[in-house]
Amino acid sequence: MASEIRPRALACALLALSLASPMAAAHKAHTHGVGDLDVAVDGGRISLALTVPAADVVGFEHAPRTDAQREAVASAEKLLRAQAELFALPVAARCRFLSADVTAPWSGDAGAADAEHSDFAARWEFDCAEPAQLAFIEVRIAAKLSGDLKLRATVLDERGQRRAELTRSRTRLALR
Ligand SMILES: [Zn+2]
Repeated sequence: MASEIRPRALACALLALSLASPMAAAHKAHTHGVGDLDVAVDGGRISLALTVPAADVVGFEHAPRTDAQREAVASAEKLLRAQAELFALPVAARCRFLSADVTAPWSGDAGAADAEHSDFAARWEFDCAEPAQLAFIEVRIAAKLSGDLKLRATVLDERGQRRAELTRSRTRLALR
């Protein structure tokens, strides 16, 4: 039971941080060319949550109007679900992929509230049998989406919270 409760407690801590801290609020501002990646590590469980401007994913931030734009949205969703393309974990950590959850703007009512800006959101979970081997995670999101995308990464684990910046060429996020 405890192993099911702890990740949720960590997710709550992460949410509380982003709600409570003015720094975190600024960190969440929508800026084209900049995405946010929150990484929570709890034992062998890794949760990654991405928010990235739609401009950096599909090149526009309005509801798709043409077939080409609808295709761009569909292929972006497919890419964000392809976790093997986006992440690499140390083999020795023996991680298995648990789930991916991708939310495109303009699905349902999601995009209606803010006509000026839209974001893609995605969440991935992994479970690793050898947490002591979790030295890093390779993040290839910037390279897959857009060469100029910067990711403001925040790692939250039992030691606290750390920040790092990831780009197309800077892909390794230290976890230890
Ligand atoms: Zn925007």
